[in-house]
Amino acid sequence: MTYTNLHHNRSHHNIGHVALVGAGPGDPDLLTLKAVKCIALADVLFVDDLVNPDILTHAKASARVVYVGKRGGCASTPQQFIIKAMIAAALQGEQVVRLKGGDPFIFGRGGEEVHALQAAGIAVTAVNGITSGLAALSSLNVALTHRDHAQGVVFVTGHAKPGTHGTDWAALSSTAYQAKLTLVIYMGVAHASDIQTALLQGLPSHTPVALIHNATLPTQRHAVCTLGELTRTMRAQRIASPAIMVVGDVVQGLLATEANLQQQRQAA
Ligand code: SAH
Repeated sequence: MTYTNLHHNRSHHNIGHVALVGAGPGDPDLLTLKAVKCIALADVLFVDDLVNPDILTHAKASARVVYVGKRGGCASTPQQFIIKAMIAAALQGEQVVRLKGGDPFIFGRGGEEVHALQAAGIAVTAVNGITSGLAALSSLNVALTHRDHAQGVVFVTGHAKPGTHGTDWAALSSTAYQAKLTLVIYMGVAHASDIQTALLQGLPSHTPVALIHNATLPTQRHAVCTLGELTRTMRAQRIASPAIMVVGDVVQGLLATEANLQQQRQAA
């Protein structure tokens, strides 16, 4: 089997192929079957830093693994270098897999890579993964869109600093409040304090928040608090990156449970 068998739009080019594969949030059991098939066929894998290395047990023993992430003390491999290396490998006829954490098209620069590869005449197959923003709250058995509390959900990046050219948090928070939308914030740890201040423009300070670090991994930890207590709780509970913040009434039940537990601890 080749990737083209996995590809709906069969490519007539004979010059190589890249599969852009979502590695899921961390737990290797959350990989899709299609992702496993692609990984097993790969001659070379370009791997981002939030990908659980255990996933590579599905790769051939002879496969080359190129780590291109920025954690572990190394500088992140420049995007242009990754793209050039993928194109070169594909043109040599290698089966190339680009492994990205979560879903490749949710804040993963997957779209940019598809454009660059297609511009070079390389066929691309995109394989969805479970995005961390979806997995984080599910891992606590809470629904992002429980119909008693939310009518929708917004995935938003916290990376662009509020108040600069980034997200219009004032508009987003008042829309979330009026339209009953759950906010799922990626990459928010570094700017948590700014995000908290900005969200308080449109959401009440008692709005529940869940913070989930290393979702679906054995090292997962979480904290729940109100929006007014967000920064203090993150510091006190040492919630570090990578973490997902979920803001909205769907987290109310978790917050109530946590408050009960604390009362019991104090009474004991
Ligand atoms: N494409 C990825 C997101 C990449 S952006 C996806 O779909 O999940 C990187 C951000 O994702 C991190 O800063 C963090 O907010 C989030 N993230 C990724 N994996 C995570 C995990 N296991 N637990 C919590 N957050 C995670």
